[in-house]
Amino acid sequence: MSECLFCKIVRKEIPASVVYEDDELLAFKDIAPQAPVHLILIPKAHCEGLNDLTPEVEKAVARLPSVAAKLAKEFAIATSGYRLISNCGADAGQTVFHLHFHLLGGKALGGKLCQL
Ligand code: AMP
Ligand code: ZN
Repeated sequence: MSECLFCKIVRKEIPASVVYEDDELLAFKDIAPQAPVHLILIPKAHCEGLNDLTPEVEKAVARLPSVAAKLAKEFAIATSGYRLISNCGADAGQTVFHLHFHLLGGKALGGKLCQL
């Protein structure tokens, strides 16, 4: 059985504040939010990150932006604006190696994606 943290959340072995679930995708509140709205969206099938897409994960993730847009409406950030990002690898600061997307909003997020 996978020791992956997000696989454990998928299997409901550790608790999470789930805000969306279907056969292929799961979304839950980030445990350490960096914005008033900070959700994590994942494919249920495990893959480490964007470098490791499988056909199964790719199929699921194709639907993820529309789920993000639906959640943005639900969390009242659709109009004010939001960001959907995935960190891949060391330079991006990826800490959990199950592909995931951050949905961030509820405040001005700033113009820069990185500091030079
Ligand atoms: P990243 O740094 O892009 O790999 O993002 C991992 C994210 O997962 C971070 O924002 C963490 O706060 C979040 N996280 C870690 N553990 C949990 C958990 N048990 N429940 C919800 N979010 C988590
Ligand atoms: Zn996993």
